[in-house]
Order: sequence, then C-alpha cells, then structure tokens
Amino acid sequence: MESQVQPKLIIHGGAGSSLHGKGGLEAVRRSLHTVIEEVYSLLLCGATASEAVVHGCQMLEDNPRFNAGTGSVLQSDGQIRMSASLMDGALGRFSGVINISRVKNPIELAQFLQNSPDRVLSDFGSAELAREMQIPSYNALTDLRLQEWIQERQDNFKSAMAGVVAEPELVETSNAGRGTIGVVALDASGRLGAGTSTGGKGFERIGRVSDSAMPAGNYATSNAGVSCTGIGEDIIDECLAPRIVVRVTDGMSLKEAMQRSFAESHQNKRDLGAIALDCSGAIAWGKTSEILLAAYHDGEKIGDTLEWNDSELIGYC
Ligand code: ASP
Repeated sequence: MESQVQPKLIIHGGAGSSLHGKGGLEAVRRSLHTVIEEVYSLLLCGATASEAVVHGCQMLEDNPRFNAGTGSVLQSDGQIRMSASLMDGALGRFSGVINISRVKNPIELAQFLQNSPDRVLSDFGSAELAREMQIPSYNALTDLRLQEWIQERQDNFKSAMAGVVAEPELVETSNAGRGTIGVVALDASGRLGAGTSTGGKGFERIGRVSDSAMPAGNYATSNAGVSCTGIGEDIIDECLAPRIVVRVTDGMSLKEAMQRSFAESHQNKRDLGAIALDCSGAIAWGKTSEILLAAYHDGEKIGDTLEWNDSELIGYC
C-alpha cells in the first residue's frame, strides 16, 4: 500500500472581467463550495486523483452558470462546440476531445480516451466516439447563452471574449459568459490529476481550437498539476500549464514557479489565470485577468479567491 498523504483539491470556474453585484458572487461561491465539499469527500474515501477530477468537472459542466457542458457559450455561427481534457499525473497521460457537440459531459469522453491508443479526438472523431459509447444526444444550450449571442450579434461580435459567469442581470449591460472550468486534485496516494472543460471563448470562428484540450491549458505529472483559463491564445503562447509544471520538476517551489510564470504572463500582457497543486500538497492560483473564480480544500478548510485582493499576481497556501 502506498503511503497515505492528505488529499488536496482546487477548482476554478473561469477568469475574466469583474463580477458585478454581490448576488453573483455569493451564488458563484455556493456553486464552487458545493463541488469542493462533494469532491473532497470522494478523495477522503479513496478516490484516485483522476476520478475526483472527472467527478468535479462533471458537476461544474452540469452547472449552467459556468461555460462548460450545459451553459456553454455559442460560437460565431450560433453553435456550441465544447472541448475537454484530462491528464493523469501518475501515468503522465493526456487525453481530450476538441469541439464536440451534443453531449452532456465532454470530460467523460476525455476519461474514456485515457485508455485508448488515440487519445485526442477532434470534432468528427469525437462525435463518432460519443455514438460508439452510446452517449445520448444532449442539447447544452440555455436561454441565457442564446440571449447573449443575439445581443453580441447585434453589436457585430465586438467582444474579444464572452464575460465571466452567466448572470442574468448582466446580460443587459455587458458580455456575460466566460467561465471555463477546471479541477486539480492530489489523492491520498500522492497522485495528481488535472482536468479542464470549456465551451470556448465565445463567438469564435468555426474550427478554432481551445487551449483547454491542449497540454498548454491542462497538464499534470507526478510533481505538479495545473488547469488554466482565460484567452486560449494567450495560454497557448505562454504554454502556461507545462511551463509551471516543468519549473516545479526542475526544483522550484510551486510558489516560485507561479510567481515567475505569472510575472512573465503579465509582462507579455496576457489575459489568463491558473490553478495548481504540487505533490507536497502546496496549493496555488494566479491571474493576470481581473478576477479568477477558484476554490480549494487544504485538508482542513475550504477557501476561495472570489474576494482576493489584486495587489499580487498569485496566491498560495
Ligand atoms: N481558455 C478558454 C478558451 O480560450 C476560455 C476560458 O478559459 O474561459 O477556449
């Protein structure tokens, strides 16, 4: 039996421009804390890091507040195409689906592909896989996302990206929508896993590929795990998740690796955020965007970043 370590967990519901209104903030907090409570108890009962990550991603995908699974944002042609990936740190194995439509939980396909010789499938291939797995057809569209898209079309798709989290009261005044989700877990055997799932950045052209189903946006080894959110092109340009993980592997503490990587992202004027864990149980988060919606369990208590003071690019515990 491998030695027991204290499980750790961190999740995110996206990064972006500010959450207006306390109503929004409290609702997001409740959503994130509910996921943390359920997934952390699974880790205490012996779930592996990958199992915990998949379960957490499913819960977040099922919450229409976040831009993944149900409640995904629409692309420029008004269609939903979702992307998700899973990396098992102990196995050092990445799998994912890119631009899949009409399934409830894209992370389930990523999980299935962990044991396949072909581990990343794009649109047509992922639709074929969903059919083979006999996953029922599912419409992830919500009225709110449709309203956002119609409004954005009236404005001729001026926004670089959809907003943070679906908040009905914001539709009138701003672009609401961004809220990709991610989970990173350290299990009781010391294994790490990372998962990320998204509807994309919103209003993108057909065929655009999100960082969420690339190692740049989701990466884990036996040393550290990272899930990213924000403008996918910025995350890809920084190669953010492996950049942090490799720094930890080469001897930096997680805090130093995050500090260095976020200082560089800031200097390069990127718009992004990330959550991270290392095998010693350190927990960290960082952002160059205005806000990062993240929550964690440090073994004793739940914390979150919803009212995090902006003076630092990173936080940790
Ligand atoms: N990174 C995602 C993408 O660009 C969007 C997000 O994190 O909100 O597809």
